[in-house]
Amino acid sequence: MMRTKLYHIITMLLLLATMPLQAREYNVKDVPNVQVADRTQYVSDPEGYIDASSKSHINTMLAQLRDSNSVEAVVVMLPSIGNADIDNFATDLFTHWGIGKASNDNGLLFIAVMDQRQIVIRTGYGIEGVLPDVLCSRIIRQYITPAFREGEYGRGMSEAVAQTLHIIMTPEASAELLAEEPLFDESDMAILLSLLYGYLAFAAVISLLLSIRLNRTIRSHRHDSYECYKELNDSHTTLLILAIIFPLWGVINYIVCKAVMKQMREKPRDCDKCGTRMHRLSEDEDNHFLTPQEDVEERIGSVDYDVWMCDACRNTEVLRFDRHNTAYSECPRCHAKTYSLTHDHIIMPATTLSAGKGEKVHTCSYCQLRKVTPYIIPMIVVPKSSGGSGGSFGGGFGGGMTGGGGARGGW
Ligand SMILES: [Zn+2]
Ligand SMILES: [Zn+2]
Repeated sequence: MMRTKLYHIITMLLLLATMPLQAREYNVKDVPNVQVADRTQYVSDPEGYIDASSKSHINTMLAQLRDSNSVEAVVVMLPSIGNADIDNFATDLFTHWGIGKASNDNGLLFIAVMDQRQIVIRTGYGIEGVLPDVLCSRIIRQYITPAFREGEYGRGMSEAVAQTLHIIMTPEASAELLAEEPLFDESDMAILLSLLYGYLAFAAVISLLLSIRLNRTIRSHRHDSYECYKELNDSHTTLLILAIIFPLWGVINYIVCKAVMKQMREKPRDCDKCGTRMHRLSEDEDNHFLTPQEDVEERIGSVDYDVWMCDACRNTEVLRFDRHNTAYSECPRCHAKTYSLTHDHIIMPATTLSAGKGEKVHTCSYCQLRKVTPYIIPMIVVPKSSGGSGGSFGGGFGGGMTGGGGARGGW
């Protein structure tokens, strides 16, 4: 009887003694992301190892750090992570939460696991330069280990945070932390340069081919300046596109082409009938040699007409010059270049619930044809917030990455 009682007492005592070892085990997904709940909180300490005043001090310091340097830092205190390796756990948690701005990866994580008596400082890619591993290691040895050994978790952690801030908030460090990662390093520059040379060489070849073609066109039509003009005009758009892709030589070709076209248009013409040199009528004089349709086209500016007249036999020649960059196109009914979009209005606007309706109205300035084309305006789609791996539901961290920088220590 006595023996069983003693046995029970011993069992109870043993159970009590092992209690702290049965602390809750956390995995990465269970750790409360305090930033999601409240942006002013930077300490995830579900079991309350850090006292209230240290916690508030850390929160103030890390809020200041975020405001001035955009560095996102967080302190995590966990009773247990089971048999998981704290280094891997820190990296996984860092990635899972996406600590730090995605643009410069300036995240910082302090994580302590009580049953392993281990602490890790994990730095994002963008912070490794100002806070190298050796400094992280020194902070752990000088501030965390001694205080944690005495059970002063709040003091140890807030001193470590303060020291880290002191290092990264010096002006030089701040500048480095705020800087975005350089877009190109030297090997990228070399590739870029060779691409540039390749492009310039290619542009030169294209340009040469174009000049040859231009020359050939001018020569093949040397007896008919109007035909020459028309052929050059046909390649006008191609030349313009090439001028945009190859600004250097392309522009030169384009300018030459335009100049030749102008020259061709103004070149004196000889009368087909009597061979006398003709003269070009002024814009006012030429109007009554144009058909009503041509007159409208010239008035709205979609086509230019030149009228040449032979003073000897009164023979006239009307030459058509299509304008580029005009809003007018060919009318499907009368075929004059007088057809354009005159109205585009919304009949019913789109909402998030339904598609809307609109209509385009084309009219012809010559034959007065009016064509209405209805169209559908797609429903407005409101993008859903991403959620996902960053664990952000409105709040949370910025999606930064770590390369596993930092240090680990024990107490
Ligand atoms: Zn004549
Ligand atoms: Zn028409």
